[in-house]
Amino acid sequence: MIQVHERLTVASSCPADNHMTTHAPKKILIVEDEADIAQLVKLYLEKDGFRTTIASTGIEALTLIKTNRPDMVVLDLMLPEIDGLEVCKKIRSAPDTALLPILMLTAKAEESDTIIGLELGADDYVTKPFSPKVLVTRVKALFRRLERTHDPKQTSYAYGLLVVDLSRHEALVDEKEIPLTAKEFGLLEQLVRRPGRVLTRDVLLNAVWGYDYYGTTRTVDGHIRRLKLKIPLLDDAIIAVKSLGYKLSDRAPQR
Ligand code: CA
Repeated sequence: MIQVHERLTVASSCPADNHMTTHAPKKILIVEDEADIAQLVKLYLEKDGFRTTIASTGIEALTLIKTNRPDMVVLDLMLPEIDGLEVCKKIRSAPDTALLPILMLTAKAEESDTIIGLELGADDYVTKPFSPKVLVTRVKALFRRLERTHDPKQTSYAYGLLVVDLSRHEALVDEKEIPLTAKEFGLLEQLVRRPGRVLTRDVLLNAVWGYDYYGTTRTVDGHIRRLKLKIPLLDDAIIAVKSLGYKLSDRAPQR
């Protein structure tokens, strides 16, 4: 009897995770054609307070993203018909979903860095076979990382020796101001606000030049080149993402 009572007490005094009590539960779309894996992932994510939907094909995933926007997509790379790589590109290319967080499930660890960094624009990856607990941990870590870099009130960003002060419109390296044009500064602002995230040329154009700008997306490339010339520490740190756009490495160079 005592044991039961204790268990009841523990259960009732143990609130669910923070995101359950203070915010609406986050919605995660699981895109996985292997039903067993999809169900396991669903079970563990829901146990942690997330709401989930399952799509078993890439087409189904893209439809669901339009009709019932998730807060994150857990996306298997190997899918029939259109694979995870294609799904990821489509998500990143549409302006309204360009910043949707994507955690990729990949088969081989050695492929993952290339795939994530240069091909796809996923935000993180987990290699199969994986423990569902590890997956949940990575999902939560990704949400935390994105929330941290998305504070619209933050006005100053440090990136290695570079400091970008938005309120004074200044970029400083080692405390020396680097003269930048308004567009160069605008691009730099977009990048330092979201290290590790792929920003497509369209997203950058809209943010810096505005929706009514008639130039081509190649305009972005020219300005990125000049930004790298003016701030050499960005030369390796700004990474071109094949056929999509750019991202600022989330590991800032220390020199
Ligand atoms: Ca699969």
